[in-house]
Amino acid sequence: MTQNKQTQYDDNNIFAKMLKGEIPYHKVYEDDKTLAFMDIMPQAKGHVLVIPKQKAIDLVDLEPEYAAAVLMTAKKVMQAQRQVFEREGIIQMQLNGSQAGQTVFHYHIHLIPSNIHELSVHAANQADSDELAKMAEQLAAAIDS
Ligand code: 5GP
Repeated sequence: MTQNKQTQYDDNNIFAKMLKGEIPYHKVYEDDKTLAFMDIMPQAKGHVLVIPKQKAIDLVDLEPEYAAAVLMTAKKVMQAQRQVFEREGIIQMQLNGSQAGQTVFHYHIHLIPSNIHELSVHAANQADSDELAKMAEQLAAAIDS
């Protein structure tokens, strides 16, 4: 049953372009298997996305080594968010398929410093680029420390 899934990975999706260095983003963390960066239309201040360097559309496609790697990176980012934003509550969210609301068809984990009852609208309002750059810097420094 694949009618709710984009079956063919699109090499030109926005996250694939980031991985190829074709479009800019505010990097938080990178290693050989993953990349973490600020969400450009955050649902709360400090919203970060973690992606694998694997051509995976959703959870079903994710190879075990990349599944482990994105979770390890998510842990690093979440600990940095707790430190930088001085809050314990971080939402971990991941959408599979357009029916679930997925809009970019390269697997990604959302890490959102917020409360489920207070989330703003999904992928709706673009954040100030300077503010995103500053947060990315703070989070990267917290991960390095
Ligand atoms: P999805 O709906 O697929 O779960 O989430 C896609 C996420 O990617 C959304 O939260 C959206 O704000 C974010 N996004 C979409 N386009 C871009 C972009 O060009 N740059 C960044 N950094 N995030 C993006």
